[in-house]
Amino acid sequence: SPTSAIPPTDEIGDRAEAALARCGVDHLTEAGAAGRLYARTPITGGALLALAHATERDVDHAITAAHETFQTTWRDTPAPERGALVRRLGDLLREHKYDLADLVSIEAGKIRSEAAGEVQEMIDICDFALGLSRQLYGRTIASERPGHRLMETWHPLGVVSVVTAFNFPVAVWSWNTAVALVCGDTVVWKPSEMTPLTALACDALLSRAAAETGAPANVHQVLLGGPDVGERLVDDPRVALVSATGSVRMGRTVGPRVAARLGRCLLELGGNNAAVVAPSADLDLAVRGTVFAAAGTAGQRCTSLRRLIVHEDVAETITDRIVAAYEQLRVGDPLNEDTLVGPLVGERAYTAMREALAQATADGGAVLVGGNRCLEQEAPDAYYVEPAVVRMPVQSAIVREETFAPILYVLTYRTFDEAIELHNGVSQGLSSAVFTRDQREAERFLAMSDCGIVNVNIGTSGAEIGGAFGGEKDTGGGRESGSDAWKAYMRRATNTVNYSDELPLAQGVRFL
Ligand code: NAD
Repeated sequence: SPTSAIPPTDEIGDRAEAALARCGVDHLTEAGAAGRLYARTPITGGALLALAHATERDVDHAITAAHETFQTTWRDTPAPERGALVRRLGDLLREHKYDLADLVSIEAGKIRSEAAGEVQEMIDICDFALGLSRQLYGRTIASERPGHRLMETWHPLGVVSVVTAFNFPVAVWSWNTAVALVCGDTVVWKPSEMTPLTALACDALLSRAAAETGAPANVHQVLLGGPDVGERLVDDPRVALVSATGSVRMGRTVGPRVAARLGRCLLELGGNNAAVVAPSADLDLAVRGTVFAAAGTAGQRCTSLRRLIVHEDVAETITDRIVAAYEQLRVGDPLNEDTLVGPLVGERAYTAMREALAQATADGGAVLVGGNRCLEQEAPDAYYVEPAVVRMPVQSAIVREETFAPILYVLTYRTFDEAIELHNGVSQGLSSAVFTRDQREAERFLAMSDCGIVNVNIGTSGAEIGGAFGGEKDTGGGRESGSDAWKAYMRRATNTVNYSDELPLAQGVRFL
């Protein structure tokens, strides 16, 4: 594959520090050896900075401060005033779009345009949340009793803990935080241990927005660390909602722990997304949609396309075209404008990819393109790979798993029922797509796909913030971002007001 050269770690570190300084992070707390967390870059695999890892006391202090701020000020601040904080954050994000994008590329390995796109999502959700701050509507419901009003009102929930994954280090935080803040909640954020610098930059911008708009400083706090820090947030009864994004494995630990204390949980977990390509499909669209969704972000999106379910009449044509497009993909330094595929996040992801390819081959799969490591000489501690396409005879166990790397499995079908069965035959249920010009097929797919996101004639990745985002089955059932996802961040009260002189009981019950 064509490749682009890798810059040295020092140069990347300087660029990160400059972006951090412009965002207002100028004194990074260096920790004693015991409490260290290293910021690293997958571009070279090198360490950039040593940061302080949150201690048990830090977690307790953060929750205490967030809880106090919620109780004493934030929940009583009018929602449009809370919106002013988010509006200012949106302005600062516009100003620092490319600083944050640099940090996203440096820590998560995303290419320039995808990193900038991720920051654009933050800006968009701030606009959305600002509008929402004047639209936290309840319903008025017809009462069965005369002289009574029945209605719903929505109230702030409390402290929201946001736990995020490495691959969307800023957008997922902003979906949760912008909405939670206008809903009147305070936020404690535990970012991925792989992306601490982007988290510090976001926190600095939000602190500045708070100072400038008169919001309390403790409406938002960030705690750097690994799963142990996450678990403390999960177990603390003062945390009203745990919104956690990451692997199904993480969700299986977090969900039951929050449930055990009868807390609320919003889970956004792994996907194993598929697109069905019907014989009537516009193949130009299908090829472009497939290549971006499957190879983009080096296959490291929760919505990455992992399974292509193709009608046997078009299978050969479309796979040939996809293979030809894959051969042109430039792999390498994500900070280089010409690169289309950046690095995997680390060695574990690379091992998982290699093992999945070996298993797929053992199951009778044929690797049509890609799968090799590249740039190993230039960057021995980084993991660049050629995105792979594998033709599979059946949907074997490895295909039914989410391997967080750029592997696209191609399966064929004869009848549309077969396609739907293959499509829904996995445990995850995040994003799905059909490419067809047949309206009945499109409608059937919209009705039958068991995912939270169901698309027609576009790929599985790259959702807009206006809709609710999330998935079913092992993906966890949570919804974030637009539409009415805000309701997860508030509590609903049903109110009955009697403005008559009588006291009629519901259902005609008589008493006294
Ligand atoms: P991960 O599960 O390893 O980590 C995610 C976050 O959870 C990190 O902050 C981590 O420290 C924390 N964590 C891990 N174990 C925990 C525990 N026991 N208690 C509390 N916190 C814990 O995931 P990752 O490798 O960073 O991200 C990739 C995964 O995330 C993929 O499976 C991807 O599909 C998924 N993802 C899902 C969505 C979505 O919206 N559905 C979005 C992005 C990523």
